[in-house]
Amino acid sequence: MTKHQLPEVLAPAGSLDKLKIAVLYGANAVYVGGQKFGLRTAADNFTLDELREGMNFAHERGTQVYVVLNSFLHDKDLEEVPEFVKFLEEIGTDAVIVSDLGVVKTVRAHSKIPVHISTQASTLNSESARIWKEAGATRIVLGREVSVKEAGKIKREVDIEIEMFIHGSMCMAYSGHCVISNFTQGRDSNRGGCAHSCRFEYSLEGLDTPEKKKAYFMSSKDLEGLRVLPAFIEEKIDSLKIEGRMKSHLYAGTMSKVYSEALKYYAEHGDFLSDDLINWEAELSKVSHRTYTEASLVEKAGADSIFNERENASDGEWQMVGSVIDANPKSGIVIEVRNAFNQGDELEIIPFKGPAIKVVANEIMDLAMKAVTRTRPTTLVRLPFVEGVSSMHLVRQRGKA
Ligand code: SF4
Repeated sequence: MTKHQLPEVLAPAGSLDKLKIAVLYGANAVYVGGQKFGLRTAADNFTLDELREGMNFAHERGTQVYVVLNSFLHDKDLEEVPEFVKFLEEIGTDAVIVSDLGVVKTVRAHSKIPVHISTQASTLNSESARIWKEAGATRIVLGREVSVKEAGKIKREVDIEIEMFIHGSMCMAYSGHCVISNFTQGRDSNRGGCAHSCRFEYSLEGLDTPEKKKAYFMSSKDLEGLRVLPAFIEEKIDSLKIEGRMKSHLYAGTMSKVYSEALKYYAEHGDFLSDDLINWEAELSKVSHRTYTEASLVEKAGADSIFNERENASDGEWQMVGSVIDANPKSGIVIEVRNAFNQGDELEIIPFKGPAIKVVANEIMDLAMKAVTRTRPTTLVRLPFVEGVSSMHLVRQRGKA
């Protein structure tokens, strides 16, 4: 727990850029994957140099870094773990996230890095948590099927750090126990290759009504636990995890900002009342997502947590158009463009703290101070200076699906 007894906000960092964004937007900890042993083979996993740089960047700002080693490994994979673990210890890794008992033993034999048990291990009860503790784990990332109340009981009974998912995509199966992707796509979900087969539309055979023949019947809505924050605090949950190492820079920044601001507000006021709650929810809806659900955080998830494609999810398809790489009153704001915007477009620049800064791009220049009417991705453009804007701020725009 942090000193004010609030849970940490643990954000996903699928790349070095995203790590920096999550840290600057307020995450207390980030989790990253190296080139091997993680469950996101399609993420821009960190090279050894990037791990070192990311670790330094985060630690200089008081943010912890956890590295995932949560694949289920065969004997030949295990042989390579000790060398990687020694490197992680040397660069100051704050914890490793592990699913497999053999990996726990190997990490413990070759380092003193704290071990967190991944949600892939599907820990749902006190006895399992106790066994992991006896094996040397310091924290359990509980399965998403556990309610906050049950989690509090496990924490009290076992006296171990507890981490729970608060936001992001859901697995329809017990995590770590699904092989649909293996069989349908030849991609091993327990070795980082999940094709998210549960989110596809499927045809149902044997139903009478033709309109029911196709459905997303295995696809879950996305988890969102903003209104459950008081329960997490009451049950003394140590860490609130945001899913999504594969998700966008805008996602990493927005989630880190919203959840850390909400917790800070609680620390100051002792509640989450006021318009701020509405504003935080509005921010969460500006990031691409399926309809939100609290899943099993309060009551057991049922049919209403299955995604229905007719339900509208995101608020108007906001999109990141770029990030600020320089801002000063003399030379203006320099934006690295990711998605094109035009002269006259309304933009929102997201500061690390406080509400978004609205800007109309009436005057766009290139770096040679030539007027631009339509920007192009990967170029640098200049806008007039606006108070409150600084380097690394993200820029978004509505209606750019
Ligand atoms: S296919 Fe769906 S349920 Fe299965 S592992 Fe992948 S995300 Fe989870």
